Amino acid sequence: MPLPDPALVVLVGASGSGKSTWAASRYRVDEIVSSDALRGVVGSGEHDLDASADAFAMLEQVVAARLGRRLTTVVDTLGTDATRRRAWREAARAAGLPAVAVVLDTPAAVCRSRNSRRDRPVPARILTSQLAAVTATVEILAAEGWQVVRVAPELSRPGEVAEVGPSATAATPATAPTAAGASRLRGVVLQLSSFPADGDLLGWLRDMAAAGEEAGLAGLALMDHLIQIPQVGRAWDPIPEPWVTLGALAASTTRLQLGTLVTPVTFRAPGITAKAAATLSALSGGRAFVGVGAGWWEREHAAYGLGFPSARVRLDAMEQGIETMKALWAPGTKAYVGQRVSLPETTSYPRPATEIPVLVGGGGDRTLGIAARLGDGCNVPSDEVGLAKVARYLTLVELAGRDPSTVHATVLDLPLVGRDRDDVWSRVERHRGRTAAATFAARHHAGTANEHAARLAGLAGQGVTTVFVAPVGLDRPEDVLALAPLTSTFG
Ligand code: GDP
Ligand code: MG
Repeated sequence: MPLPDPALVVLVGASGSGKSTWAASRYRVDEIVSSDALRGVVGSGEHDLDASADAFAMLEQVVAARLGRRLTTVVDTLGTDATRRRAWREAARAAGLPAVAVVLDTPAAVCRSRNSRRDRPVPARILTSQLAAVTATVEILAAEGWQVVRVAPELSRPGEVAEVGPSATAATPATAPTAAGASRLRGVVLQLSSFPADGDLLGWLRDMAAAGEEAGLAGLALMDHLIQIPQVGRAWDPIPEPWVTLGALAASTTRLQLGTLVTPVTFRAPGITAKAAATLSALSGGRAFVGVGAGWWEREHAAYGLGFPSARVRLDAMEQGIETMKALWAPGTKAYVGQRVSLPETTSYPRPATEIPVLVGGGGDRTLGIAARLGDGCNVPSDEVGLAKVARYLTLVELAGRDPSTVHATVLDLPLVGRDRDDVWSRVERHRGRTAAATFAARHHAGTANEHAARLAGLAGQGVTTVFVAPVGLDRPEDVLALAPLTSTFG
C-alpha cells in the first residue's frame, strides 16, 4: 500500500528493528527527524543519553515547523511515548496532513541479535523494556487515530523497499474495448510547451521526439500560441508555429500521433486548419489529430491583429469550425449543407490518410456539449474538477446517442517527475518560484516516474483514455525517456 504523501510518518519499533534503515531508503535526509541523530547534533554522539532532553526539544521544534509547512515529516524515535505521539498527531491534523504510524514488525530475537552486533549496544534489559513498550503501543495506535502500516522485516531490507512503494501495487487500468480509430491516441501524449532559446531547434525537436518514441509515448502535442504564455515562460521565450513544427516532427518520427493542444478557432479560418491537418495526416501516414479551443488570451490576438470577440461568439465559431473541418475531410467534393455551415463544394486534397480526431479543449458546460456532439474527444485538467468533467462528458456523449468507447476522454497533467526523492525535491526547489514547496509539490504531484505511473493508472480507472503530460522543467531527451514507466502503466 502506498503511504500518503505529504504526511506525518511516525516510526514505532525497538532498537535494531530497522526504523532508520527503512526511513533512509524511502525518504530524503531532511525529511527524517531522528532523536539519535539530534543527540549527535547537540551532544557528543548518537548515544549521548545526557543530551536527550535537548535533542527532543529540537526534535519537537523541527516537527512543528515542518508540519506547519505541510512538508512530509518522518519521526524516527522509539515511538512509544504516548504524550509526544498525541501532540504530533494533533499538529498533523491542524496542518491537514494524514498521520501514519509505521510499525517495524521485526521479531524480538532479530532486534536482539542486530543490537548485540552494534558498536554501542543498548543494554539487554533496556531492549527488553523497549520491546514490551512497542507491543503495548501497537495495541492502541489505531484507537489513537493513526493510520497503521506494518513493515515486515523482509520488506524493510534496503534492496526490497521499493516493493512497498506504489509501483508494485499499481492497478492495471481497466481498459474499455475501443473502436480501432479511437485507440491510436490512447495512452500518454507529451505536450512540448517550452523550447530552447538558441541553438539547433530542429535537432532538439528530433532528439525529443526520438526519446518519445523510445519511451513508448502515444504522441506529441504542441500548444498553439503566438506568444509564450505566462504559465509556461516569458513572453520572449520562443514558441514555434505548431503546424509547421508538426510537419518537421512528422518527418523525424514513425509512430507518434501529432497534433495541437489546442488550436484557437480565432487564429485561422477553420478551412485553413483543416488543410494543415489533412496535409499533416498525409505526410505522417495518418498520425494527425487536432485540438480546438475557443482561445482565451486577448494579448496575443491584439498583437497579431486578430479579432477577439465575446466567448459566445467564439464558441459559435468553434461549432462552425468543427463542422467545416469535418465537411472538408469527408470523402468527395460535393456541396455541404449543414446546420451551421454551408459550403458550395468540399474539394480538399491531399485527403487525410485516416480519420482525424478533433479534441475540444475546455471544461465549460457548452464546450463539453460541443465536444460530445461535434468533436471526437474532450480535454480538461487532470484534477478532481477535471475528472468530474470527464464523467459529465461521457454522459453527454451517450445522451448524444454516441458510443463512449469511440471517443477520447483526455486530460492535461503537469507532473513534476524526478529520478528519486532527492531529485524530485531539488526540482521542486528549482521551479517553485515563490510558491510554498508543499503547495507546488502537491499541484504537480511531485514524485518519481513510478509514483506518477500509479496515479495515471487511477485516472484510467475513471474513464480517461489519454493523458497529455507537460512535465515541469522538461527540456532534455533524458527527461522524456524518464517518462517510460508512465506509458507502460497507462498505454
Ligand atoms: P533502528 O535502531 O530501528 O533504527 O534500526 P536500524 O535501521 O539502525 O537497523 C539496525 C541494523 O539492522 C542495521 O545494522 C541495519 O543495517 C540492519 N537492518 C535494518 N533493516 C534490515 C533488514 O530489513 N534486513 C536486514 N538483513 N538488516 C536490516
Ligand atoms: Mg535508528
